[in-house]
Amino acid sequence: MAKMQALMCRECGKEYSTEAVHVCELCFGPLEVKYNYDDIKEKMSRTSVETGPKSLWRYKELLPIEGHPTVGLHAGMTPLIHARNLGAYLGLDNLYVKNDCVNHPTLSFKDRVVAVALTRARELGYETAACASTGNLANSVAAHAAQAGMQCYVFIPGDLEAAKVLGNLIFRPKVVEIEGTYDDVNRLCSEIAGERRWAFVNVNIRPYYAEGSKTLAFEVAEQLGWRAPDHVVVPMASGSLLTKIWKGLNEFKKIGLLKEVSTKVNGAQAEGCSPIATAFKNGRDFFQPVKPDTIAKSLAIGNPADGYYALKTAAESGGAMESVTDDEVIEGINLLAQTEGIFAETAGGVTIGVLRKLAKQGVIKKHEVTVAYITGNGLKTQEAVMNSVGRPYRIPPSLVKFEQTFGQRGAS
Ligand SMILES: *Cc1c(COP(=O)(O)O)cnc(C)c1O
Ligand SMILES: [Zn+2]
Repeated sequence: MAKMQALMCRECGKEYSTEAVHVCELCFGPLEVKYNYDDIKEKMSRTSVETGPKSLWRYKELLPIEGHPTVGLHAGMTPLIHARNLGAYLGLDNLYVKNDCVNHPTLSFKDRVVAVALTRARELGYETAACASTGNLANSVAAHAAQAGMQCYVFIPGDLEAAKVLGNLIFRPKVVEIEGTYDDVNRLCSEIAGERRWAFVNVNIRPYYAEGSKTLAFEVAEQLGWRAPDHVVVPMASGSLLTKIWKGLNEFKKIGLLKEVSTKVNGAQAEGCSPIATAFKNGRDFFQPVKPDTIAKSLAIGNPADGYYALKTAAESGGAMESVTDDEVIEGINLLAQTEGIFAETAGGVTIGVLRKLAKQGVIKKHEVTVAYITGNGLKTQEAVMNSVGRPYRIPPSLVKFEQTFGQRGAS
């Protein structure tokens, strides 16, 4: 029996065959992969995982592909760091940073979802890869499409950081800059997806794409020695990653790889685009779309597709949500860099800023095992920190000048 049984509507439960469909024709609810967990339980053990490839494909049994992986063979298995310095600063004894700044090949967590989405897209016979992106997704789709020899179109908002634009162009896809926000980009892409037989990884391939995010839960559980953390802090754009971390942990429990899951799933957004966190703080289970205005461009989705489910996940798990100002984002990036030597992008600043708030509020306690998800690399968002890092000392190549600048040896 196949491990993927069907695609199932998250609202009404209607089942569909595992093709490139993503919305329910009855109720317009989003579709999700339904697995045969009894079958997976037979095939997957801690040992089988530990002896698997050093990539996210060690969890292949819980990923939505039928055959062997063909795209993104080296994504995942990024370091989980015991952040002792940052922990000491925040008063947390068991703080960990999951460092997806160094994902292969495009330095963000999107390499996970794209590896899964494009492997599946090829299984379904697609020759063109496409996406609507806030930046990192486009970089990853463009890189993987180049390697896989697929045609590629990426659609981005018109105000992205220079490195994220160049990080597409280098792979020679068609880069389409839309005069508008991500939400405009996404709407246009949904229309194009209806016209062309393209694999839009986060539109018609979305049910498969989203599953790749679960590997950020699987890896953390394995890296902690097969235990679930007490808290996770997760940045939210569409809200998909947050919901899938929760799903992944619970799948591990379902197939017997984890004994217990009582993880509180906390969501992080930037104040300038915080529809999900704002709804949560107001005690609502629905959100109001917003027009984004923040330096955290990778998270700037004003009408988040999984916002409703993210709210449900935080509530169900007993987690919280918070938002931080752009100044706090910049502080968060600097704090992580200066304590742990990790240069994160703006989304990482959002995560650290919110982590700091939750620790201060006592929501996260000193002894609790906490994982902060750092999802993208700071070299891609240099504009955000340019004015906060100072300048180099500039001197002529002269020992005298050097001594004048830094004082005599032994004098300091
Ligand atoms: C895409 C992205 C996220 C989260 O995306 P979701 O749409 O919520 O799954 C988080 N961080 C970075 C850096 C991203 O690029
Ligand atoms: Zn339905």
